[in-house]
Amino acid sequence: MTKIRTRYAPSPTGKMHVGNLRSALYEFLIAKHAGGDFMLRIEDTDQERFVEGATEIIYRTLAKTGLKHDEGPDKDGGFGPYVQSERMKTGIYMKYAKELIDKGEAYYCFCDKERLASLKTEIVEGKEIMIYDKHCLSLSKEEVEEKLASGAPFVIRQNNPTEGTTTFHDELYGDITVNNSELDDMILIKSDGYPTYNFANVVDDHTMHITHVVRGNEYLSSSPKYTRLYEAFGWEVPVYVHLPLITDENHKKLSKRSGHSSFEDLLEQGFLTEAVVNYIALLGWSPEDNREIFTLDELIKEFDYHRISKSPAVFDIVKLKWMNGEYLKAMDFDAFYEMAEPYLAEALGEGFDLKKIAAMVKTRIEVFPDIAGQVDFFRTLPEYDAELYTHKKMKTDAASSLTVLTEVLPILEAQEDYSNDALYQALLSYIGQKGCKNGYIMWPVRTAVSGKQMTPAGATEIMEILGKDESVRRIKKGIEKLKGE
Ligand code: GLU
Repeated sequence: MTKIRTRYAPSPTGKMHVGNLRSALYEFLIAKHAGGDFMLRIEDTDQERFVEGATEIIYRTLAKTGLKHDEGPDKDGGFGPYVQSERMKTGIYMKYAKELIDKGEAYYCFCDKERLASLKTEIVEGKEIMIYDKHCLSLSKEEVEEKLASGAPFVIRQNNPTEGTTTFHDELYGDITVNNSELDDMILIKSDGYPTYNFANVVDDHTMHITHVVRGNEYLSSSPKYTRLYEAFGWEVPVYVHLPLITDENHKKLSKRSGHSSFEDLLEQGFLTEAVVNYIALLGWSPEDNREIFTLDELIKEFDYHRISKSPAVFDIVKLKWMNGEYLKAMDFDAFYEMAEPYLAEALGEGFDLKKIAAMVKTRIEVFPDIAGQVDFFRTLPEYDAELYTHKKMKTDAASSLTVLTEVLPILEAQEDYSNDALYQALLSYIGQKGCKNGYIMWPVRTAVSGKQMTPAGATEIMEILGKDESVRRIKKGIEKLKGE
């Protein structure tokens, strides 16, 4: 059996879009699942869209996500060059375009802008497409040669038949047949000498021995034209896997506007790389059971591309947050602390035992930026409403809380050891004397020392962090509030 070879073929045009990362991931998984090779090819022939620094983003993202390529511009595997602009310099695209011309499958076109602008247009998938009228196909060999010799600008177009049909196969969509009359004579070589994506992808995938082409389904409608190129050359068509669209929560194509359309956005928002990769794997693919948490190695084992769905995948940030929270819970504490520390330091400043607070929040946050909202009360007691003291289940209200705080205050003032255990024992013995339930005491104490309904820890753990002076001050403040002062 031939070794599976997949390629990730990004264009260096900016940030790493979630859809691009998904293509890279699926290509990586398909290759690795079958013990094949995963290759990186940089598609930089669209000079107008080139963005400085974007190539570095590609390398950085692949390294960070663990999608290790076996071949690429930085790792020669014998199929290079791996950057299209460098491939162009070898003359490969022109050579194959000329081969098509010789076969009558392509032709030179010298039409100028004005003439092209006067041609009929059609709306295809919401875009206005010009249908070229094959004007230059009727030029004689001599006319063509004369124009070329005079240095007239030209493009090379594919010569598609106007009759008959073309069929291609996609692993997910099955056989797709189109009328050849719908296939425009697309440009293969542009007037600047660069190949179009439409041409380069075919020449490159073939010459680089790619067996499986995985890409977004926006390329589905052009695939019959690619198939015609393969057939014209007499080359074997690779296995096509066109991936479903990724939409935002409003079922619109996931775009910058969502605020989380790129890998960089997600990292900035405090998501873990592993969680993002895991989540992206599920944007269109699902395993046989309902399992959701996978390491990259587990994905390699489980990934069967036949289980990719055709339905659009909704990027659900709420779900990603949940998943990220699961990764945080499972994370080794030291690794967690290293990442959480800057967020804790920013929220709390100096003077706190950040490690202890990190342990409190580890299982309670979904993303690191949640930390501030969980711990800010340690630094400053928030303004809170006396209503907070009333809790039905704990059977507390303003009057009972006032009594409890007033009785607890001298105990806390007398207490020297402010460790959680010692404080807990002190309060337990008071609870024992009173003969009430724990919550009846702990609720008002926790409310007074935190000013919040929900905290990442109990009353005595909070007081251990706050220390005696601040705990006593807050209890006194609670008493004043309950007295209505
Ligand atoms: N350079 C193309 C893109 O970034 C690649 C499409 C493909 O994988 O063939 O969209």
